[in-house]
Amino acid sequence: MGTQANVSKADYYEVLGVGRDASDQELKSAYRKLAMKYHPDRNPGDHAAEEKFKEASEAYQVLSDGDKRAAYDRYGHAGVNGGGPGGFGGGFQGAVDLGDIFGDLFGEMFNMGGGQQRATRTRRGDDLRFDLTIEFEDAIFGTETEVKIRRLEMCDTCHGSGSSSGKGPTTCPQCQGRGQLRYQQGFFSVARTCSGCNGTGTIISDPCQSCRGETRVNREKKLKVRVPPGVEEGTRIRYGGEGDAGRSGGPNGDLYVVLSVRSHDFFERDGHDLHCVIPISFPQAALGAEIEIPAIDGAVVLKVPEGTQSGKELRIRNKGVPYLNERGRGDLIVRVVVQTPKKLTKAQRELVSQLAESMTVDNKPSAPSLLEKMKDLFS
Ligand SMILES: [Zn+2]
Ligand SMILES: [Zn+2]
Repeated sequence: MGTQANVSKADYYEVLGVGRDASDQELKSAYRKLAMKYHPDRNPGDHAAEEKFKEASEAYQVLSDGDKRAAYDRYGHAGVNGGGPGGFGGGFQGAVDLGDIFGDLFGEMFNMGGGQQRATRTRRGDDLRFDLTIEFEDAIFGTETEVKIRRLEMCDTCHGSGSSSGKGPTTCPQCQGRGQLRYQQGFFSVARTCSGCNGTGTIISDPCQSCRGETRVNREKKLKVRVPPGVEEGTRIRYGGEGDAGRSGGPNGDLYVVLSVRSHDFFERDGHDLHCVIPISFPQAALGAEIEIPAIDGAVVLKVPEGTQSGKELRIRNKGVPYLNERGRGDLIVRVVVQTPKKLTKAQRELVSQLAESMTVDNKPSAPSLLEKMKDLFS
């Protein structure tokens, strides 16, 4: 049937549905699509699908190989199959090892990766994240606190070997340590991850009682966290090696403490500056005043200059947030808002009336956008 098969064989490019000038990447993705669709695992018992799968695999096998593709382009099927006995089979020297293609294309999906998928027993532990909420002031000046984290630590009983005798892992009898098993599927040999050892090639024949052979146990651990001054919402502090222990004595992962900062009653933060609003009276604004206000770390005197407009921002240097990695601090920016009294005593009413008589304001309109400029003019 060899010759006959050759004659009726579909064109490889047509099989993959690509042009004759298709790039390697195009070939690969075309094959990937077909292989996914017709893979025997997805179409159990479907003979037609299996045939399509083999057809596509064969086409890809040839076209992905530069030499074979050149020969095929030149001589057609005869160029790659011809000469060998049995037509088709000859060009492939029997079973084709698809391990590489599968490992590369969809090893994870069908869990039958090639050699590169084989898990190593010793692995670095996972990184951990701990969310820590701190007070507004603590973010500015820093703090120290103790946190409790849950993590995997190396099992004391078996010292991370996983076996009660301490002899550790032994070669998996199912796959003889190769981590994968090979199946013959038609004339294809397909590799699958060994279920006996999950692809690691080794098993624990006498699992440790404490960790059930996992080599690690779940523990709660207290850890001192030092929050440096000047941190902010979302700041991550890394503690190298304080994450999960690695399997079988592998290196530890890291711990990341991620900070969240509570809001303050009246301060708001903008980078290294702090902002707040302070009400002042009209006489204070008009005559100027020195007002004691609470800064983040104690009282400071705010100097309100004579003739200060409502809404004016006054800056108090060095009363903001310390810089994280250098000297100095940001500023405290106080917006003063002139309060208009809602109720006046009789005496106050008389005084304000007198003031009104002696004071004239030009009630001339101006564009709202000019207001900010005017504030500057008056201040
Ligand atoms: Zn153990
Ligand atoms: Zn095995």
